[in-house]
Amino acid sequence: MFDVVVVGAGLSGLQAAYSAQKAGLSVVILEARDRVGGKVWSVPLASKRGTADMGAAWVNDRLQKRVWSFIEQFGLQVVKQRLDGKAVMQTEDGDRIVYPYGITPEFTPAEKKNLEFIRDHIQAASLRPERPSPENDNVTLDQYVRNLGACPKTVQMVNVWSRVMHGLESTEQSAAWFIDYCRRNRGLLSVRADDETGGNHLRISTGAQQIPNGLAHLLGSSNIHLSSPVASIEDHRSHVTITTTTGRTFVGKKCIISLPSTMYRDLNISPPLPAPLQEVANSTLLGHYNKAIVCYDRPWWRDLGYNGFIMSYKGPVIVGRDTSVDENGFYALTCFVNGREGEKWAKLYPHERRRVVLEQLAAMYDVGLDSEVYRPIEFFEQIWKHEPYSKGALAPVTALGHYTKFDSVYGKPVGNLHFVGTEFSTEWKGYMEGALCSGEQGAKGVVEALRRQSPRAVL
Ligand SMILES: Cc1cc2nc3c(=O)[nH]c(=O)nc-3n(C[C@H](O)[C@H](O)[C@H](O)COP(=O)(O)OP(=O)(O)OC[C@H]3O[C@@H](n4cnc5c(N)ncnc54)[C@H](O)[C@@H]3O)c2cc1C
Repeated sequence: MFDVVVVGAGLSGLQAAYSAQKAGLSVVILEARDRVGGKVWSVPLASKRGTADMGAAWVNDRLQKRVWSFIEQFGLQVVKQRLDGKAVMQTEDGDRIVYPYGITPEFTPAEKKNLEFIRDHIQAASLRPERPSPENDNVTLDQYVRNLGACPKTVQMVNVWSRVMHGLESTEQSAAWFIDYCRRNRGLLSVRADDETGGNHLRISTGAQQIPNGLAHLLGSSNIHLSSPVASIEDHRSHVTITTTTGRTFVGKKCIISLPSTMYRDLNISPPLPAPLQEVANSTLLGHYNKAIVCYDRPWWRDLGYNGFIMSYKGPVIVGRDTSVDENGFYALTCFVNGREGEKWAKLYPHERRRVVLEQLAAMYDVGLDSEVYRPIEFFEQIWKHEPYSKGALAPVTALGHYTKFDSVYGKPVGNLHFVGTEFSTEWKGYMEGALCSGEQGAKGVVEALRRQSPRAVL
């Protein structure tokens, strides 16, 4: 019998297993995919110029201590996000607004003032150390900003934030959930920032997958069973049995489940989870969170004075960034095709998806058919909704009212079952750092529970 069986080898599961192992516990991880990392996945370029990050990419050296300590431990090189140059914004009608990156787009003075008022209001709310209120949890983010007097351009900008951050519309999440997400991540501005104050500051030159791969190496590959989807979990009070779809059964004193809560229903847990936990988990939403990564021989947009940052109210690309690794000759624009626009885009044929992305880039950079925009050397796309073991991204968002109503059960242990995942993190929720933080906390919970039964484990 293992001390702990961990379901899922994403970053939260890997960290939970690693922390438990360091505390002296015996661990095994069961992972459905044929690789570790979950929503961290770096795919090699055919041109051998490096890898494309289909999931997580950006990190911060000063603000994300767990991620950063692995980057140092594994000796990984990072690239700073390019900020110099002009950014481009596209309005709902397709008009272009070119503006210096980092300031509010050149709307009319009244629209600018309105946007800055709402932004500052949410920023201030997200810096106040308060508990999310049921009142704000029962109102959508969209309605919340309208109630504050947001004008149409501001309402659309808030929707861009919502799409980029969670792959959902601002009508699909509560104001309390959104503000608390920002609170756990150092405030709205920090979530949105591409400089050293935010979550989009640095990228790992050889791909973010190096972190889960390194963690798996530390854990020992014999302790990780890949291609082993868990089919059922039975908590017998004295122990837990976990059975995979391949017919293998693992027995543990405790089980740590690291799947997004939206997917608990796939695990056939018995006895069934308590009704309130089922209600909150079954109602969480995973967003339409897609990437199109367009790779070029040259960073042609820089020649035109742009830094590669684009933002659109029209879509389907909502936000894009330069994700080149210059020293490898790898030049790329990573486009997020999220929210409702992403849902529509995902239904197109692959060649149509590629066409609409290239056409939008051409329109936003105001270049014609003879432009290099139409001559990518490689084109990657990733639709996380289509992944059976992810079913969407970024992280589950609770239904209206549920975040406060089910606070006492959401993410809390049940019998011998413990839950981890970036969605439960108290810091950098939704990020790799959040997954590591939650994994650490989950392992601590298991160690303490086992210590109450036997004094052997110490963390
Ligand atoms: C497009 C995109 C961009 C992102 N950008 C960033 C970024 O720039 N910076 C950042 O920090 N974060 C980013 N993130 C978020 C980051 O990837 C996640 O927060 C983090 O990886 C989540 O880790 P997790 O362990 O909580 O969940 P997951 O990674 O979802 O791990 C869950 C694991 O469970 C496995 N699993 C599922 N079902 C079963 C089953 N039945 N049996 C066994 N195993 C199962 C899955 O295969 C997976 O490995 C991004 C995510 C996406 C999708």
